This record gives sequence, structure tokens and C-alpha cells, in this order.
Amino acid sequence: MVTFSPIDLHAHSSVSDGTLTPAELVRRAAEQGVRVLALTDHDTVAGLTEADGEADRRGLHLVPAVEISSQWQGRDLHIVGLRVAPADRPLLDGLAWNQDQRRKRARTIAERLERAGVAGAMTVVEQAGESMPTRSHFARFLLESGAVSGFQQAFDRYLRRGRPGWARVDWMQMETAVRLIRGAGGIPVLAHPTAYGYTGAWMRRILTAFTEAGGEAIEVICGHAEVQRTQQATGYALRFGLKGSMGSDFHGPENPWVELGRLRAMPETVKPVWDDWPTALRP
Ligand code: MN
Ligand code: MN
Ligand code: MN
Repeated sequence: MVTFSPIDLHAHSSVSDGTLTPAELVRRAAEQGVRVLALTDHDTVAGLTEADGEADRRGLHLVPAVEISSQWQGRDLHIVGLRVAPADRPLLDGLAWNQDQRRKRARTIAERLERAGVAGAMTVVEQAGESMPTRSHFARFLLESGAVSGFQQAFDRYLRRGRPGWARVDWMQMETAVRLIRGAGGIPVLAHPTAYGYTGAWMRRILTAFTEAGGEAIEVICGHAEVQRTQQATGYALRFGLKGSMGSDFHGPENPWVELGRLRAMPETVKPVWDDWPTALRP
């Protein structure tokens, strides 16, 4: 059953592909009753200062965090870093490298979409400016320009692998992401383990490598995932001796299925990632 959780360790702002500014996100979290919120924008910590200022005003504890795009054996993995030092130089350099890859990919996607007859796709890149042009931005553009009638349809028709707007990208290696997060004093968490669509055999290989690299936790509760997925993630946590994290992966109020702090309870068998955190940061 989805209930209320005062701790939400996965959320995005408009600094990456969310639709609320960092301050608006924190305000909404506070209104929902969330006391501990991690801002986990994709490959950037640029929203943390604004979010932290608003968190102070709202009496909410902001966990400085990031969601790093990475690869292992050619497969994409998202690694959340919780409680990272946002000014850590090697971390910032690593994020800048990923940002560069993302900008290159965005230009390729735009060129391919225009070639496929989607006029104006390059404006997505131009309008992004200093912020990060993600595939969600292209999906919203396709929706707003009437090329598709739904957000998911934008991925299915244009942006998925094998579709006209697909472009591969080489993110940093998973081991690098883990090392950078640890180097910045943070906790590496494998995000949404049941959302990748990899087989059980691949997930076991991935989790072995993640644990050996220094990974410490896994998201056991993600968004509104079904009970069966929670059970699967619980099994991974127990089998690989990983702590459990939980987060909504909130991107904005447009998605009625995901809300800040609306999460299942952490299974009692799993050691929560916040177990040894200061009292103020625990639910
Ligand atoms: Mn996203
Ligand atoms: Mn993710
Ligand atoms: Mn996310």
C-alpha cells in the first residue's frame, strides 16, 4: 500500500528534466509533509544552492545529491549519490564530462528528428542554454508540437532505441560514478533496479560489479512501483548486503501517478540507507 513517507530520496527539478524549479520543488515537498528530501538532478548539482535556501525557510532537510548516468558493459545504469559534497572538484569534473556527452547527444537527436520531418527540433537544444537538454525535453517538444499525443508515445515513436530520434551516448563507467560519489563523501545507490528491463542474470552480474566497486545501497522503494517490484528489489538488497533507499523519482505535478513522499514503507528486513545518519535526517 502506498502511504505517506516523511523521507523522499529521489526527485528532479528544472535544473535537469523536472518541471518545478528547485525552490518550487522544495515548497511542494514541504506542503506534502516531507521532512527529508534529496534533490537528485541528472548529472548536475546546480540546483542544490537554491533548494537548500528554500529548505531552510521551510524547515525541511535537504540531502545534497545527484543522479549520475553511467554504463556497465554497454548497459545504462543510474547511480544516485546521496549526501555528496557539492563542491567536490573530481565530482564536478566528472559531471561536466557527462553533461558534455548529453549536449552532444541532444544535437544528434535534434538533427535526426529534423531529418525525420520534425521541424524545429533544434530549438530544444537552443532553448536549453546552460541547462541540460534531456530526452524528456524532446518528448515534451514532440507533445507540444502535436507530433505525438502522449509523453510515452514520444519515446515509443521517436526516442527509443531503433526509432528515428535515437542516439547512443557514452556515459561514464559505473565504477567511475561510484568512485566519484564516494570521493565526494557520498553514498552510491543503484537507482530503480527493476526499471531497466534487464534479465535476472544481468541484474545479478550488475549487482556483483556494483557491490565490488563500492556501491552501498539500492532503491527498494521507487515511485509507485508495484508490490512485486518492491519484493524483487528487496531480494537484491538482502542477497547483496545492500542498504535500502526510497524515493519518488518525482519530475513534476503533470504526472498524476507520482507524488513527493507518497511511497510504500521500507520492508523491515532491509537496513535503511539513513540508518546511521544524524537524527534530523531520519524519518
Ligand atoms: Mn529524468
Ligand atoms: Mn533514473
Ligand atoms: Mn531520476
